[in-house]
Amino acid sequence: MRIDLHTHSTRSDGTDSPADLVRHAREDAGLDIVALTDHDSTAGWEEAQAAADEVGGIRLVRGIEISTRYEGASVHLLGYEFDPAYPPLVEELERVLGGRDDRLPLTIARLNELGYAITEDDVHAVAADAISSGRPHIADALIAKGYIASREEAFATLLSPGKPAYVDRYAADLQRAIELLAAAGGRAVIAHPWARESREVLDLEVFAALGESGLVGIEVDHNDHDEHDRATLAGMADELGLIATGSSDYHGTGKVGFPLGANLTDPEQFARLLD
Ligand code: AMP
Ligand code: ZN
Ligand code: FE
Ligand code: FE
Repeated sequence: MRIDLHTHSTRSDGTDSPADLVRHAREDAGLDIVALTDHDSTAGWEEAQAAADEVGGIRLVRGIEISTRYEGASVHLLGYEFDPAYPPLVEELERVLGGRDDRLPLTIARLNELGYAITEDDVHAVAADAISSGRPHIADALIAKGYIASREEAFATLLSPGKPAYVDRYAADLQRAIELLAAAGGRAVIAHPWARESREVLDLEVFAALGESGLVGIEVDHNDHDEHDRATLAGMADELGLIATGSSDYHGTGKVGFPLGANLTDPEQFARLLD
């Protein structure tokens, strides 16, 4: 049983359409279960489900990756199988997407000051199917203009915190996002907790407290975690009764080294999450 619980399509900053992603998951990566978890949006669910029905032999888990903040640090929160129409959650997601929209002109202005001749339209042109813009789309626009070679390079030189074209944006409060997902009938799991920014603020005590707010799991097997991180996080999940998941965080060709099925979720852990 091959289960991958974190992937992105063109509805956010991946490069496969939701349908192509599901087809690749079944036919190339041999997955039995795949979760579509676009940033801050459920817009790909319907197309992905239609593809899963057509391809057969693969179960779609309907998910999201919400941009949140905890103690000032960016934390990504995965949500699974919640009611996408639950009004308080819809409202919060609209606020997050609005923050993305507000950031775009500010980032473009920075880039223009730095001498990069790009416009909002250039970004919209490379993000035609996306619900809102992300830094990877700005990177893609810079690539299309011939300024840089890869998304990696754009983040390393311009778009990461501390770099000259970085602009902050609104993110949901982590605890509130967990509560909203739970209230919408879903399951909340912290994505790559020990990736660069979030590892400064997330530890055993915080996981325990968030468990009280309705957090059910943490993503342990992820390419942002080395072997030592994975062993430590798995031990913490076990100690706290949290579910430990594994996933690729696939972005198509947008993120090198994160192929579908790169990391998998244990079927027993999956059963605790959803069955
Ligand atoms: P944003 O959603 O605008 O905050 O941008 C964050 C997204 O950029 C995340 O989904 C990451 O997967 C992606 N990202 C972050 N760093 C890199 C990188 N070095 N190369 C490619 N994608 C990246
Ligand atoms: Zn992404
Ligand atoms: Fe993430
Ligand atoms: Fe992700």
